[in-house]
Amino acid sequence: MAQKGGPCYRGQQLLDNAPCQAAAGLDSGALPFPRHRTLLVQWKPDRHASGSPFGGAAARAAERVATERKTTMPELTDLSVIRTLCEKYDFALSKGFGQNFIINPGLPPKIVDASGVDKSWGVLEIGPGIGVLTKELAQRAAKVVSIEVDERLPPLLAETMAGVDNFKLVLQDVLKVDLRALIEEEFPGMPVAVCANLPYYITSPIVMKLLGDRLPIQNLTVMVQKEAADRLAAAPGTRASSAISCAVSYYATSKLMFTAAPGSFYPAPKVTSAVVRMDIRPTPAVQVEDEDGYFALIRAAFGQRRKTAANAIASGLGLPKDKVIAAIEAAGFDARIRPEALTLEDFAAVQRELK
Ligand code: SAM
Repeated sequence: MAQKGGPCYRGQQLLDNAPCQAAAGLDSGALPFPRHRTLLVQWKPDRHASGSPFGGAAARAAERVATERKTTMPELTDLSVIRTLCEKYDFALSKGFGQNFIINPGLPPKIVDASGVDKSWGVLEIGPGIGVLTKELAQRAAKVVSIEVDERLPPLLAETMAGVDNFKLVLQDVLKVDLRALIEEEFPGMPVAVCANLPYYITSPIVMKLLGDRLPIQNLTVMVQKEAADRLAAAPGTRASSAISCAVSYYATSKLMFTAAPGSFYPAPKVTSAVVRMDIRPTPAVQVEDEDGYFALIRAAFGQRRKTAANAIASGLGLPKDKVIAAIEAAGFDARIRPEALTLEDFAAVQRELK
């Protein structure tokens, strides 16, 4: 199967992506989850084969200790462990898939703290990589389902997630997964959070899919580039706002939780990263009759950054400029107003006047 991730990099060296699906003999097709290509990475200790000297409760306690050791494996943030894993599975990190793995051991607990999940929650993770955040999530939540696009990663995850029985891997592009069906099937009756160190190249499409599909989720806590985080967290009507700030604000309340230096990741990205938490509103922030038209208006307004809202809306929606100016003025604004000065309610008022 052709790889979509583009060139890989290991250190400074550019390499081709080597397809190695099913390298560990793991047959995702054989597993019970019809709508998605899934891989249940599960490991059950074989008491008889291990020759455990303990019986009954003592054996279970010994297993629990062994499992806890495995699941707290801090080495996944250790560069030498990552390199050894990469060599063992002939895996080179892919720039095309946005693979910058967490190597700061303080980050996974901090991200999970920010998400606020506990043992009653189900968590959907996007892009587990080799599982560093996944392990922390699996320790602290009831169940973790991780969606990963890179077909070379299941064998590594089978090793790093061994002993973790509340984890499931879905091997697919997150943008192509029926997330509603997945969530309903995997997390019945549980509050659900999304928690992820997102692949930066598709931050906006992923966030828009998660919010716009009105999924049964309570919150999203995502690591993204700081610049993107600023946009996700900006309130409409303020200087830093953009079309995505408006979309986020329509569906959720958002907060920039903390930043992370480039050295927290391997390889180090060029820019600082930040975690944003978005809490889904029970109902959208404003009531609009035509939601598609509302977002088309907002996208058009921000489509040409240095233009006034009127000019940008007129050219973006192909409307006569006079008509747009009249609507903006009728909504109570100066004809030269910039899009970043408009709040969600303001855009709704302009939309009403344009009708
Ligand atoms: N969670 C790991 C960590 O924090 O170290 C890896 C995060 S890395 C920034 C992004 C992850 O998303 C990679 O594992 C990458 O392969 C995966 N990914 C990239 N594009 C994806 C897509 N379209 N669908 C699902 N996963 C994707």
